[in-house]
Amino acid sequence: MKTIRKITILGSTGSIGESTLDVIARHPDRFQTFAITANKNVEKILSQCQRFQPRFAVMLDQESSEQLASAIKTTNIKTEVLSGIESLEKVASHPDVDTVMAAIVGAAGIRPTFAAAQTGKLVLLANKETLVMAGRIFMDLVKQHHATLLPIDSEHNAIYQSLPHHYNGNLATAGISRILLTASGGPFRCASLDSLENVTPEQACAHPNWDMGQKISVDSATMMNKGLEVIEAHWLFEAPPDKIQVVIHPQSVVHSMVAYVDGSVIAQLGNPDMRTPIAHAMGYPERIESGVSALDMFKVAHLDFEEPDFSKFPCLGLAYQALDAGGNMPAALNAANEIAVESFLKKRMAFTDIPAMIKHVMQIIQREEILTLDDVLKTDKLARAKAHEWLANL
Ligand code: NAD
Ligand code: MG
Repeated sequence: MKTIRKITILGSTGSIGESTLDVIARHPDRFQTFAITANKNVEKILSQCQRFQPRFAVMLDQESSEQLASAIKTTNIKTEVLSGIESLEKVASHPDVDTVMAAIVGAAGIRPTFAAAQTGKLVLLANKETLVMAGRIFMDLVKQHHATLLPIDSEHNAIYQSLPHHYNGNLATAGISRILLTASGGPFRCASLDSLENVTPEQACAHPNWDMGQKISVDSATMMNKGLEVIEAHWLFEAPPDKIQVVIHPQSVVHSMVAYVDGSVIAQLGNPDMRTPIAHAMGYPERIESGVSALDMFKVAHLDFEEPDFSKFPCLGLAYQALDAGGNMPAALNAANEIAVESFLKKRMAFTDIPAMIKHVMQIIQREEILTLDDVLKTDKLARAKAHEWLANL
């Protein structure tokens, strides 16, 4: 008989959160939704409560949680409503939970994701920002508390699937020569450098292949997403930066590859739908249905590969620089990027100001070692303040 896994979904109202619930709904014999969480989308989380009847629903925002609680009172659902960051940590570390989908966007996800690792959960990691900000201490925490980490990001999930079964964290002894991290190139892959100055948030968010949240969509347009993913791959697979090569692949069918010393290249392919990596991680080591349609090779017909253009997409180079510098620099990069994306989305600055702001923040923040989560949060706060200052002087 199968044991039913109890899952907390951090960020259930987002794009990854909804795809996760879609996979859960296909397997009521395997998964039970223990808790769902959101920032402040009351309407969506209420309908999720009605459908999945979790034990807890957490809203970060106090007022939204009060609205949700009173809406739930008018139904016969028994879901308990909580609010605040401590409650997010509580449902991520609750003794009755075995699996946590970490799908909050941005630095806001770091504390509950840490709470899940600290209590030895199976952590399904979509929130790449946690690894970017705090890679070393997070990976140490996972080891120390015997948590299990499975990557949800499609590229990292593909790499995971293409690695040897018992990969020991050493590329050389595993006979691996390189990790080939694919990137769609985003909506501006073919745009001229000059035209980028005037692109709008709507154009930046219109990703050619993937349907995602706003922040990651802008990150894909600047290629910062790939930069964050290089850092993510570095920590997940203990891969030195010079062994991680970004390959532009506009069809988004090959989700990434692992190249071996004998010349073999192992890839994972599929339609661009996040339910595949989600179902892979949720069912692991078994394979379960995800609702994703079968890949039609005749429809795909062509697989193209190109070199990335570092001059058109300076964010990619900035991420490699932050990784090389180490310490608090990736956290500074991430924080500056979050403010830059938010400011661009609010039309307070141009698309091309995004790398300019990040570069400025990385130049003025002093490099320091990161030993604790507090060190990370200190850099995060300072980098945000510096980014706001830069914007005010624009
Ligand atoms: P989204 O914007 O669609 O959803 C974000 C979720 O986080 C929502 O549920 C929202 O309520 C919650 N949230 C936002 N701010 C919060 C805060 N301050 N405190 C608590 N909760 C908050 O984002 P998404 O596209 O689902 O991405 C989620 C994460 O997964 C990101 O880290 C992203 O990089 C990663 N990811 C997403 C995709 C994708 O296809 N969408 C692919 C790979 C990785
Ligand atoms: Mg990705």
